[in-house]
Amino acid sequence: MTDGGPLAHLPSRSKNYERGEIRILQGRAHAMRPAGITERGERRLTLCGLLARPVTRPFDSGGHESCRTCAAVERVRPPARPIRLSPDLAALRSLLDQAAVEACRSPRSKYPMRPTDQILFELLEAV
Ligand SMILES: [Zn+2]
Repeated sequence: MTDGGPLAHLPSRSKNYERGEIRILQGRAHAMRPAGITERGERRLTLCGLLARPVTRPFDSGGHESCRTCAAVERVRPPARPIRLSPDLAALRSLLDQAAVEACRSPRSKYPMRPTDQILFELLEAV
């Protein structure tokens, strides 16, 4: 296991959660959950449980416009690793492609085989 997972080598600009905003509640910034399904309107759950649209800035827990609940959650549970949107997405897709190739590889292949649980663990470690 590598420290920070298989994507730890990617460049990092921020160690914060991704910032999210709610259009009808302008002025309040929330911290986006790092995992979740995006709903209609590009909204996803925040740390405080609201649906917000991510913006391309990090969440600043000390900002006067920041949600106090999101800031409290961030203090208790800081992000496991920095959020790097575009590099993360491209790298994760690459890992998924590689995992699919490995999982479908014939036992008679000349390439070394890894157990599927090891492949899955690497994917989970990356996210
Ligand atoms: Zn919030």
